[in-house]
Amino acid sequence: MFEYQAPEDLLKDRIILVTGAGAGIGRVAAKTFAAHGATVILLGRTLEKLEQVYDEIEAAGHPQPALVPLNLESAQEHDFIELTNTLEQEFGRIDGILHNAGLLGVRTHIQTYDPVIWQQVMQVNLNAPFMLTQILMPLLERSENASIVFTSSSVGRKGRAYWGAYGVSKFATEGLMQTLADEVENISNIRANCINPGATRTQMRSSAYPAENPASVTAPEDIMPLYLYLMGRDSLEVNGQSLDAQ
Ligand code: NAP
Repeated sequence: MFEYQAPEDLLKDRIILVTGAGAGIGRVAAKTFAAHGATVILLGRTLEKLEQVYDEIEAAGHPQPALVPLNLESAQEHDFIELTNTLEQEFGRIDGILHNAGLLGVRTHIQTYDPVIWQQVMQVNLNAPFMLTQILMPLLERSENASIVFTSSSVGRKGRAYWGAYGVSKFATEGLMQTLADEVENISNIRANCINPGATRTQMRSSAYPAENPASVTAPEDIMPLYLYLMGRDSLEVNGQSLDAQ
């Protein structure tokens, strides 16, 4: 497990966007960031799930979050522009993005992979993070130090049979992160890195490994040290890295 002890106020006054914040790792990351003082912007496709996370953060007495219901599969340029305008008016800047929303797609041979599902997975896992990052760069540039965290996977570092579009999208995510990190190195206050969460107890993990006993898999809460480290001031010099949460 990545070892890091976050100070309680690590993310005080920071404004952090979390995609896929309604469930799984994103839900726990949003709550963890809020518990460390951040104002979190909860982006996801299912409003009820986002509202539940919102209520939990409020009930815990953490900074009031913001809600952004948005389906990253169908979102168009105008949706991203609207989001940016809203965030600019509301906050004036952004200090972090956790690109966490993800689609597993199907587990099958490349030979039989449904091209429609391929496009959907690429849209959510790769194209949406690209478009969101691009349009939010001006707001990130207004931060004293901004952190962009992409979510990768072990199948995005070494190709593995039957992981199809998912694995390929994660390879491309690593490439996107490296390209961006090299562009911002030394000339900006922005850093970009990847997290590989490792096997984590969520709906996606159960779908990929239906025969596995969920109790044997690491809980999302246990992988939070790396998420906090990359969002906070202790990782200011870290750029272009792909780190393992476990
Ligand atoms: P999860 O439980 O399936 O949660 C995924 C989240 O993404 C959900 O909140 C989901 O929203 C959201 N999402 C999916 N499609 C979306 C769309 N079109 N628009 C907006 N939001 C969308 O998955 P997870 O396990 O927490 O995975 C989080 C990230 O970690 C993913 O990038 C995944 O690839 C990566 N990862 C996970 C593991 C693991 O073992 N769990 C391992 C390696 C990498 P709904 O709840 O509304 O469906």
